[in-house]
Amino acid sequence: MRKPVVRDMAFFMSRTKPEGECLVWQGSLTVAGYSRFVDMGKAGSGHRAVARLSGLDIEGRVVRHSCHNRACINPEHLSVGTDADNVKDMDNAGRRYRVVTPKTIAAVKALLKEGMRQRDISELLGINQRYVSEIKCGVRGDDGKILKPWW
Ligand SMILES: [Zn+2]
Repeated sequence: MRKPVVRDMAFFMSRTKPEGECLVWQGSLTVAGYSRFVDMGKAGSGHRAVARLSGLDIEGRVVRHSCHNRACINPEHLSVGTDADNVKDMDNAGRRYRVVTPKTIAAVKALLKEGMRQRDISELLGINQRYVSEIKCGVRGDDGKILKPWW
């Protein structure tokens, strides 16, 4: 019988390559570029597993990268936060991903209904196109909060 794989900190760390101060996951990545591993047929994300192993309480919270390197699983670069923190982080990193108010979300929905393209809505309202797509797919609710995390 095959012995179960013990996925402890050593398991994850032995599968990384240093890149500057980051420890970059050498296994598979999600579409969004996050580390991914499979456990009993279920996919898990490496940075969340490592954050948990390093003693962080990640239940119901997002795990953030201070280095903005999504494939990095260096515990030193991981912290937990709210979705709002994450958005703020992205702003600080110079990406156009500002906090979207319920008013804007209502506008996005109305424009989608009129058949406007996601890219045009993003341009018009000055918000990230991913946000528009998340609203369209129902990943984000009317208050802008993530309803169905994909990580
Ligand atoms: Zn890092």
